Amino acid sequence: MKTRNLTILGATGTIGINTLDVVARHPDRFRVVALTGQNQIEKLAEQCRRFRPRYAVVLEADKAYALRSLLAGLDIEVLAGMESMEFVASLPDVDSVMAAIVGAAGLRPALAAARAGKRVLLANKETLVMAGRFFMQAVREHRATLLPIDSEHNAVFQSMPAAYDGDMASHGVRRILLTASGGPFRTRAVETLKDVTPEQAVAHPNWVMGRKISVDSATMMNKGLEVIEASWLFNAKPSEIEVVIHPQSIVHSMVEYLDGSVLAQLSNPDMRTPIAHALAYPDRVEAGVPWLDLTRIGQLTFEAPDHARFPCLRLAFQALDAGGAAPAILNAANEEAVAAFLDRRLPYLGIAATLASVLDRLAGQPADSLEALMAADAEARVVTRRIIAAS
Ligand code: NAD
Ligand code: MG
Repeated sequence: MKTRNLTILGATGTIGINTLDVVARHPDRFRVVALTGQNQIEKLAEQCRRFRPRYAVVLEADKAYALRSLLAGLDIEVLAGMESMEFVASLPDVDSVMAAIVGAAGLRPALAAARAGKRVLLANKETLVMAGRFFMQAVREHRATLLPIDSEHNAVFQSMPAAYDGDMASHGVRRILLTASGGPFRTRAVETLKDVTPEQAVAHPNWVMGRKISVDSATMMNKGLEVIEASWLFNAKPSEIEVVIHPQSIVHSMVEYLDGSVLAQLSNPDMRTPIAHALAYPDRVEAGVPWLDLTRIGQLTFEAPDHARFPCLRLAFQALDAGGAAPAILNAANEEAVAAFLDRRLPYLGIAATLASVLDRLAGQPADSLEALMAADAEARVVTRRIIAAS
């Protein structure tokens, strides 16, 4: 068994921490070569002392300065800037890159990893939402291996035929069924949603996640982004993807075949399962996750999503249908709206309302280059901030 060298982008986040937890269980299999973070310098320093990477990368020069002094005496090179994140994502001796930065900021280093032909363990769904066509093209052209970390997409990957090549019809695949927990507001009285606070929105019933994705789960924009993510990963049309609410978060998604079979992946809701799957693929390794006790869980239930309660889900399907820059515009507007909500500058219901007006104003732009997408992203942020400031 060859040891796999690993770069972890976004090491200080929830996915990064879970990745290091799995890595620590298998020191003979995985070696950490580079870790990146943004603001949590103490945490990054502690991870560096424990895992001894060759490189530690942060975004800003003053943070690098602080990190350097925390790591004095250790043989760890501290770098700063997005270019340095791209650099550690494409180091020649790195086999696998965990792409776990949150938001549009994760695109460039994930793309660098794909262009360097790495095994890309993709948690950063925003990469595919923004630039799915260009990212998938880079994966193909540079013979990168793409392994989804998002629990739903990892479940679909596991439930697809081993030789799946993006052609659903020739593999007898009829539909992808993406499950969603429904988040913290699945049963809350709709007329009280206007009073939702950031604290309530980030308190997810089943998963512990970063703040942005937790708010996305409450609005179900997360599932909307995941529909777009699935369309690129598995080359599926919007009509071939269905969202099913499953409050227990045990069935992580399913693939339906033409003969009526439905294959699913089940596990406790713990990101270490998809992370360990992708890290060791095609082997299987212990992940530290408690064994699934179905008799204790007792019931698995399923229901259709309520679009009146979760307008963001429909907006995502709308952006996917519109194509071009629309998904990138939706993603950028959503990042801005969620940040404003967490800052108490926008009420909860203002998130969906803002996204709808940004899409109305801007969607319909083509996206014939990565630069055009970046420009659409930037313009969407300006327009979104203006709408929020005026509301
Ligand atoms: P998080 O907020 O906990 O961590 C984000 C990480 O990204 C941190 O290490 C942070 O330092 C880094 N980062 C943030 N902004 C940055 C920037 N501008 N430049 C460089 N680095 C930056 O987020 P998370 O919950 O770990 O999620 C990470 C990604 O994984 C997201 O795209 C999310 O959608 C996806 N994801 C997360 C989960 C989960 O359970 N947490 C599940 C599925 C998918
Ligand atoms: Mg998910």
